[in-house]
Amino acid sequence: MKEIVADTKQIAYCGLYCGSCNKYLKGSCPGCAGNDKATWCKIRSCNMEHGYASCADCKEFANPMDCKKFNNFVSKIFAFIFKSDRAACINMIKTNGYESFANYMAENKLQSVKRK
Ligand code: SF4
Ligand code: SF4
Repeated sequence: MKEIVADTKQIAYCGLYCGSCNKYLKGSCPGCAGNDKATWCKIRSCNMEHGYASCADCKEFANPMDCKKFNNFVSKIFAFIFKSDRAACINMIKTNGYESFANYMAENKLQSVKRK
């Protein structure tokens, strides 16, 4: 089992923190960027096409919730089940930067900023 550490490379394109995920820590998932099986994810492919580190770098949408790739029916179900708030993660990255976000997520052992 890996330890939770602060590492900006472990931030997923959608803002989740892979570095606190059990699958990542157990070694059964390489994390978002390295997960070539995640071809289903439009957020991941969009970010890769544009060369962004996450939707926080998006030039098209200041608020990712306005983007249909980011905010759709499936993502709402996902957010409800996992109590995640990827938009809040992206906003925190925009406000505080990637390093501060990775530090916060690792210190608090969080995959997502808590949904309010
Ligand atoms: S939802 Fe997409 S962008 Fe987010 S962690 Fe999963 S594969 Fe990566
Ligand atoms: S907000 Fe939408 S368009 Fe912008 S990088 Fe994310 S998925 Fe792509």
